[in-house]
Amino acid sequence: MQRDSARDRRGFRCVHCGAPVSPNPSGSAHRNHCPRCLWSRHVDDKVGDRRAACAQSMEPIAIAARGDGEWTIVHKCTGCAQIRTNRIAGDDDERALLALALRPIAAPAFPLDGFSVRSG
Ligand SMILES: [Zn+2]
Ligand SMILES: [Zn+2]
Repeated sequence: MQRDSARDRRGFRCVHCGAPVSPNPSGSAHRNHCPRCLWSRHVDDKVGDRRAACAQSMEPIAIAARGDGEWTIVHKCTGCAQIRTNRIAGDDDERALLALALRPIAAPAFPLDGFSVRSG
């Protein structure tokens, strides 16, 4: 228990890309995902409690914009498939966020040909 809380204060290493993740960056109360690749880890039953037994990595699958314009990341657990949304943090990589937001546009599930303007 002692060692767990000490490790929590120091942060953790990203389960996906291995980047060191500090737990309390400026402008964010709960650092729960990697600022570089945006992957998270299923460690909370409720936000911040660190009580989930799952502990599998959580893949960022989408960006959702809330009514007030704030962006949230939608994470899906690779272990138990739980879906969770998390606020983005001030030091999240903007390109990673944009790449996630543009993913359905960059790889559309249907042909976009019909949307192009045709002459004649
Ligand atoms: Zn990472
Ligand atoms: Zn899980």
